[in-house]
Amino acid sequence: MERLQKIIAQAGIASRRKCEELILAGKVEVNGEIVTTLGSKADPDVDIIMVNGRAIKNEKKIYVMFNKPKGVITSASDPEGRKVVTDYLKGIKERVYPVGRLDYDTEGLLLLTNDGEFANMLTHPSHHVPKTYLATVEGVPHGTDLDKLKAGIQLEDGLTSPAGVEYKDIDTVKKEAVISITIHEGRNRQVRRMFEAISHPVIRLKRISFGDLLLQNLKRGLYRHLTKEEIQSLM
Ligand code: URA
Repeated sequence: MERLQKIIAQAGIASRRKCEELILAGKVEVNGEIVTTLGSKADPDVDIIMVNGRAIKNEKKIYVMFNKPKGVITSASDPEGRKVVTDYLKGIKERVYPVGRLDYDTEGLLLLTNDGEFANMLTHPSHHVPKTYLATVEGVPHGTDLDKLKAGIQLEDGLTSPAGVEYKDIDTVKKEAVISITIHEGRNRQVRRMFEAISHPVIRLKRISFGDLLLQNLKRGLYRHLTKEEIQSLM
């Protein structure tokens, strides 16, 4: 038996707080009876739970790490017919959705799950999961430029929080540098905008870690299930 708000949140309906509001508002039924008491319990394997008149699905929870290639949309469908991440997950029958997103041109580690509560928790702004990217940038930034990124830099939507920044490679012939950057926020195109702000636009961007998860040698376009320990490490 589990708390009703937890079962509903895990089904991906909404955050746990919103699910509590749904219960209090009389929108949740268990086996045909409206339940308005917070803390009521139910068995997701046995009871029929309806929210707003629709039965919730109680699937086995799955968690996968995908190495997204560039030129792929982080979404389940695209009206323009471009490639989407779920095109690469043919072996998975559960309906999974991405935890946050990577830009069309960004590659690397993307987490997907059908555990709505887990996804909501990890993408909530108060949850500062560190994410590390390898950014290949135009030109070779000075140490003082990187210090600005480390300290926090002013973007249109406000100051960024402190970041971990390190040189990984410098190519003086091509006039490019590879910089690793670890951020704890997830604003739209944040890494690209940070490097634009120091006048070293990103040429290539790859996410190599998410919390304790490491992309390592997972091949581009492939996915793997997370281990129990990896899932635990993110909770
Ligand atoms: N920052 C970006 O600019 N793009 C991404 O896809 C992720 C982080």
